[in-house]
Amino acid sequence: MNDLHTIPAERLDADDALASFRDQFLIPRHGDGEQAYFCGNSLGLQPRGVREALLQELDDWAALGVEAHFHGKHPWMPYHNEVRDGLAHIAGAEPSEVVAMNSLTANLHLLMVSFYRPTAQRPAILMEAGAFPSDQYAMASQVRFHGFDPATDVIEVQPDEANGTISMAAIEAALDQHGHRIALVMWPGVQYRTGQAFDLKEITRLAHAKGCVVGFDLAHAAGNLPLALHDSGADFAAWCSYKYLNSGPGAVSGAFVHARHATSDRPRFAGWWGHDQASRFRMGPQFQPTPGADGWQLSNPPILALAPLRVSLDLFSRAGLPALRAKSEKLTAYLEAQVLARLPNVLEIVTPTQPERRGCQLSLRVRGGRDQGRALFDYLVAQGIVGDWREPDVIRISPVPLYNRFGDVSRFIAAVETWSAPAGSVA
Ligand SMILES: *Cc1c(COP(=O)(O)O)cnc(C)c1O
Repeated sequence: MNDLHTIPAERLDADDALASFRDQFLIPRHGDGEQAYFCGNSLGLQPRGVREALLQELDDWAALGVEAHFHGKHPWMPYHNEVRDGLAHIAGAEPSEVVAMNSLTANLHLLMVSFYRPTAQRPAILMEAGAFPSDQYAMASQVRFHGFDPATDVIEVQPDEANGTISMAAIEAALDQHGHRIALVMWPGVQYRTGQAFDLKEITRLAHAKGCVVGFDLAHAAGNLPLALHDSGADFAAWCSYKYLNSGPGAVSGAFVHARHATSDRPRFAGWWGHDQASRFRMGPQFQPTPGADGWQLSNPPILALAPLRVSLDLFSRAGLPALRAKSEKLTAYLEAQVLARLPNVLEIVTPTQPERRGCQLSLRVRGGRDQGRALFDYLVAQGIVGDWREPDVIRISPVPLYNRFGDVSRFIAAVETWSAPAGSVA
């Protein structure tokens, strides 16, 4: 640890070149002031520009009807192209490798139709133990759909590190032991519970060496960490856009298909929006996929859901991912340093300490168990300090560089200190 915790938050905020981006967001109110909002890992805040962008689409619909497909301010027909460069920037991908469509779990299923092709010799999916429930359900149901048994053919890598995190050695050992039976490695970019970030390129290298296909669920990584999906070599990936991508509840998901699969003849579920664009409106009977990730689209895109994504991605482009990551590392290091220096008897940090093994989130286990943890969490909410609670005893705090301040962190620390002072709940 360095002496970061001794620097006043006001000074760090004054030195923050990205500070003005906070004004681009609507910060929820708490009494006469603002919340200290640390829940961007669950639902990112609303960019100010979203309301106007939505009204524009409503106005175009009202004024132009079907003609807005071609003559709206942002014509609907090619609308998904308006988010393409922004998504490619977020994903570290070529523009043709990404597309905005559907929702996350739907995209995982859709992409597994093409990229999970189990055989009797190689039926299994490798994933982390304790994955987000939707991912567990999706994997198990895919295995069952193909006539295999999740009890033997969903293989989970157990945490092997003290705080419940997973070492690369454990992943490698699982691949050494089971690799010949594994059809698909499905891995998180950032684990939702522990906040652990993984080396996607290394996982891909190890898994490909065993002949496995590799997909990533980037729900907690997209907009949190700079990604390099193309260079990672991963076969496919998907993420949601309502967490760090600030695009609103249920926002359109993003999907990545590596360029080497651009004209893949793997089986896929088809819809008219994935059809070759030049001949789509000839309405012919034969499906001819358009090259790239676009070829996995099913339906014409939901414009009212894409509009917020367009606004939000624009903020990421303007701020720049390297600058955001630099601030993010500092914000999270500040939170970590304050917890270690001032709250060692109250909170234990679950998330890895090395910056390359985490994004912005710190998962904080409350010492003293569930009831203490709940009491602290409820106290924080009453103070307008919003993290989120994970059973049985973890509070997740995610300072995000686009709208959080160092002052938010010090407000959190001070509140926990007050709650845990000798007269308070923790004896
Ligand atoms: C948030 C999250 C989901 C949510 O899935 P939806 O289909 O968007 O509801 C799924 N998986 C992971 C890992 C998540 O973090």
